[in-house]
Amino acid sequence: MTHLSPLLKQATPVLVDRAEGVRVFDPDGRGFLDFTAGIGVTSTGHCHPRVVAAVREQAGRLIHGQYTTVMHRPLLELTERLGTVLPAGLDTLFYANSGSEAVEAALRLARQATGRPNIVVFDGSFHGRTIGAASLTRSGTRFSAGFAPLMAGVHTAPFPYAYHYGWDEETATDFALRELDYLFATGTAPDDTAAIFVEPVLGEGGYVPATERFLAGVRERADRYGIVLVLDEVQTGFGRTGRYWGHEHFGIRPDVQVIAKGLASGFPLSGIAASEQLMAKAWPGSQGGTYGGNAVACAAALATLSVIEDERLVDNAAEQGRRLIDGARKVAAANPVIGDVRGLGLMVGSEFTGADGAPDTATAQRAQAAAAAHGLLLLTCGAYSNVVRMIPPLVVTGDEVDEALELWSAAVADATA
Ligand code: PMP
Repeated sequence: MTHLSPLLKQATPVLVDRAEGVRVFDPDGRGFLDFTAGIGVTSTGHCHPRVVAAVREQAGRLIHGQYTTVMHRPLLELTERLGTVLPAGLDTLFYANSGSEAVEAALRLARQATGRPNIVVFDGSFHGRTIGAASLTRSGTRFSAGFAPLMAGVHTAPFPYAYHYGWDEETATDFALRELDYLFATGTAPDDTAAIFVEPVLGEGGYVPATERFLAGVRERADRYGIVLVLDEVQTGFGRTGRYWGHEHFGIRPDVQVIAKGLASGFPLSGIAASEQLMAKAWPGSQGGTYGGNAVACAAALATLSVIEDERLVDNAAEQGRRLIDGARKVAAANPVIGDVRGLGLMVGSEFTGADGAPDTATAQRAQAAAAAHGLLLLTCGAYSNVVRMIPPLVVTGDEVDEALELWSAAVADATA
């Protein structure tokens, strides 16, 4: 009998039969509040009727158009439509299927455009699992252990993760910028550096928002040295943080923006956006793929963007995000094992630490398992997997947030009993 490879690790024991809105249901009809959203993907809620209708319609017309062979309307319409939400000037798009592939596309573009070899990334960053993207990932050695050698030419600077260092944000920001300069003096010369990749909020690395001064400093150095600044908005995009793009909280402008996850409500679709001038430096035909920009995925994305706009999901993410983080902070106040609660919008992480400040992975894992037993699906993140994260669909209501917080409180009580 064939079976699934043990290399897959499943975070919960749940078998899902169907899903609707913020809930998934097992074959016996038991419902679970899904505060994972398929790792931040199903922003419009599971099986939103408008997405389902768009997908059905498109599937009956054209499923696969193959963008290096023939062009199709959903891809052209999506490109035009994304222009209404992307930062000004990032008006040229390339599509792929996953976040990792889009990260690879950004990496190739930056190298071809600059003719330089090296890349700078930050501690705690996650950019994907393909060998190129895994080479840029610093959110846990579990994403690269045993795969070496990874891609050469990647240099790492600290991220202003204040809680990790035991500092305030100002001190952490000073440190991170000083070390970035030191890296350019000791590790990779600016003229050898093609790109800096950064997430506005560390995602897999522990739900750590950047600071405004840090990102402004990164932008300034990219400008000074002619380095391409790539913002990985795979997890933070499409309203997740309570603004359309995570970087809007910090007032900076990317040269390349990577998009995926929330774009198509669960259909595999990703992309990079850049200025026409920068994108023109990529060598024609140097990128592509069999499935990129799939017609049904594009139709799902068009419906997703309409739902985000019509249902004011970005505002809802901001409002429910405040409710969620306030509630999570109350749970932390009653449970000293949760040392820090942080996030932006509907990206909220609770970091578990022992009395000595050391990561408490075991209690975090117990809390996550207890939450699933209570009917609340959650994931962990962070280098030590000791941060429990909440990323519900953006359609979540105040009542659903309150319900999740009650289950979370009960789960933490179970985990610490
Ligand atoms: N970048 C970021 C910021 C992500 O959060 C992820 C996925 N968690 C990726 C890239 C990789 O995306 P994918 O899993 O679709 O390859």
